[in-house]
Amino acid sequence: LVIILEKKIKMKQNSFHNASIKLASFYLMIIVVISLVFSFSLYNVSSNELERGIRRQTGPVGQVLRNRNVDLIEDLLLEQNQTISEAQARLRNNLFIINLLILVSGGLLSYYLARRSLQPIEEAHEAQSRFTADASHELRTPITAMRVETELTLTDKKLTLQKAREQLKSNIEELDKLTNLSAGLLQLARIDNNGLETSKTDIKDIVNTAVSTVLPHAESKKQLINTKKLKTIIINANEISLTEALVTVLDNAIKYSPVKSVITITTLKTKQHVKIMISDNGVGIKALDLPHIFERFYRVDQSRNKTLVSGYGLGLSIAKAVVEAHKGNITVSSIPNKGSTFTVSLPIKN
Ligand code: ADP
Repeated sequence: LVIILEKKIKMKQNSFHNASIKLASFYLMIIVVISLVFSFSLYNVSSNELERGIRRQTGPVGQVLRNRNVDLIEDLLLEQNQTISEAQARLRNNLFIINLLILVSGGLLSYYLARRSLQPIEEAHEAQSRFTADASHELRTPITAMRVETELTLTDKKLTLQKAREQLKSNIEELDKLTNLSAGLLQLARIDNNGLETSKTDIKDIVNTAVSTVLPHAESKKQLINTKKLKTIIINANEISLTEALVTVLDNAIKYSPVKSVITITTLKTKQHVKIMISDNGVGIKALDLPHIFERFYRVDQSRNKTLVSGYGLGLSIAKAVVEAHKGNITVSSIPNKGSTFTVSLPIKN
């Protein structure tokens, strides 16, 4: 599957390269047409002016010679024509060199501009392909596991009721995972397509709702969630999505922190922003992983995490999409083995 996807990505890269060349040729064609039209007009106007200038200069001498009926008039006219055609040839040469330079520099500039204009599309396209590949991989894993286990159970000749029950329980667990995963994917698609509707909401209420949602999880690990420093701050927000985003961050803080540890939530209001800080004393995140944890399906030390803590690496990317739909941002600072602080920053007027 990975090889097929890599091949697909390579093919797409090639087609983007071709598209860049096509776009660059198009740009270059426009530059060349403008340059040629300009040079042609310049040549016509300049050579007319040149001719008129030279004739005007030599005109009075010609008149004198003509009056005296001197033979020199022929030579003068010949020289006059020669000067004009030499000047015209020089003009043509200069224009040719200028056009050649425009062609070369225009070609390079066009290619650079074409690459620059296509790059964001290429990146978005690549991200979309990877996302689809990751999503289908994540969807397929529990389905395959469920199928293999169920087939084994069915072919077991000594199948007991107890074993059958266990199998059905395991199937339900896998189905729950699939439900969560598809809900997450749907949520991402919805935010990507429609954005979020907002209304006046108190940040304090949102934090309290999120805390009460995760409280059973924290209590099962005997952890304390400290919300003493909360302030009432009213902003325009989508209450449900923002609560879910905070639930994700809080859930992670609980998941990746030891038993009996403390998680602290503080809110802060500046002139233009409201900040919600969630700090834990957990395992922390290595500097190498920090820039990636908001990426879709990214999980730190995947082999270790998947067996220890459940999750798909979608939570933080959904939280980020929600916060960004509010025109805010979410950042993290972390020290391995000390803890992490996630900061959600939202504009007060959005
Ligand atoms: P997951 O479903 O794996 O929790 P997330 O998108 O919520 O996915 O998080 C991505 C990764 O970021 C996690 O796998 C985890 O390694 C890391 N992470 C997130 N929050 C914390 C935290 N508070 N402490 C340590 N690691 C964290």
